[in-house]
Amino acid sequence: MSCLFCKIIEGSIPSTPVFQDEVCYAFADIHPQAPVHVLVAPRQHITSVDQAVEDDQKLLGHLLWAGAQIAKTKGLWKGYRLVVNTGEDGGQTVDHLHVHLVGGRSLTWPPG
Ligand code: 5GP
Ligand code: ZN
Repeated sequence: MSCLFCKIIEGSIPSTPVFQDEVCYAFADIHPQAPVHVLVAPRQHITSVDQAVEDDQKLLGHLLWAGAQIAKTKGLWKGYRLVVNTGEDGGQTVDHLHVHLVGGRSLTWPPG
């Protein structure tokens, strides 16, 4: 098993946990782009949202729900962004599905 995030989820690579349940594990991004930058990843290895199948719909919704709960615990009442980079053009660098929760500052749009 060579997936970086699978290793983080199983604990063989250390991370800073933020939230976890039976479906997902959320941890601090190692290179934060904002005061709050958390990655929400499913425990199950799915390469990207592009590879999700019909049966994954509940899991996909759960990741967004978890991101919103974490935002509340982090006090992001002014807003935040949930981002799923997908594939090469989408800027995905780790091939294990994850939702970025980014907040704690005013974010610009459109992204680069
Ligand atoms: P992507 O570019 O695939 O959307 O996001 C991957 C994220 O994983 C990046 O924001 C990057 O900083 C983060 N990352 C890469 N390696 C590690 C690591 O070993 N530990 C943690 N906590 N985050 C990582
Ligand atoms: Zn994985």
